[in-house]
Amino acid sequence: MNVDLSDDEWKDKLTPEQYRILREKGTETAFSGKLLYEEGAGDFVCAACGAVVFKSDTKFDSGSGWPSFYDPADTSAVRLLEDTSGGIHRVEVTCANCGSHLGHVFNDAPDQPTGMRFCINSASLNFKEKGVSS
Ligand code: FE
Repeated sequence: MNVDLSDDEWKDKLTPEQYRILREKGTETAFSGKLLYEEGAGDFVCAACGAVVFKSDTKFDSGSGWPSFYDPADTSAVRLLEDTSGGIHRVEVTCANCGSHLGHVFNDAPDQPTGMRFCINSASLNFKEKGVSS
């Protein structure tokens, strides 16, 4: 992990909604995210630290209401953690660069090349369209 800020530093940097999701492992309401239907070509970066975590060429519409990808940008871009909160066993997806919560990954996408569905909060991402500087 390269970015390691205190809770107060994260609160200064993030909106309350981003803080709740990224730093407190929250989940946005389904179908509420602004990047759900983003179809441009480019990189999806961690909203907390800016690291590239997903790419547009692996994004698909899973019907879940959250941005879905069948692979991370790079295997080292995300870190997967066991999550047994709420008595349910899931695999949490975090940003390898800053440790922020991105979403969960499920192996229920048999129609996708990897069979995996990375179910990611739109609020945990920013989109950097290819060829557009920002
Ligand atoms: Fe990050």
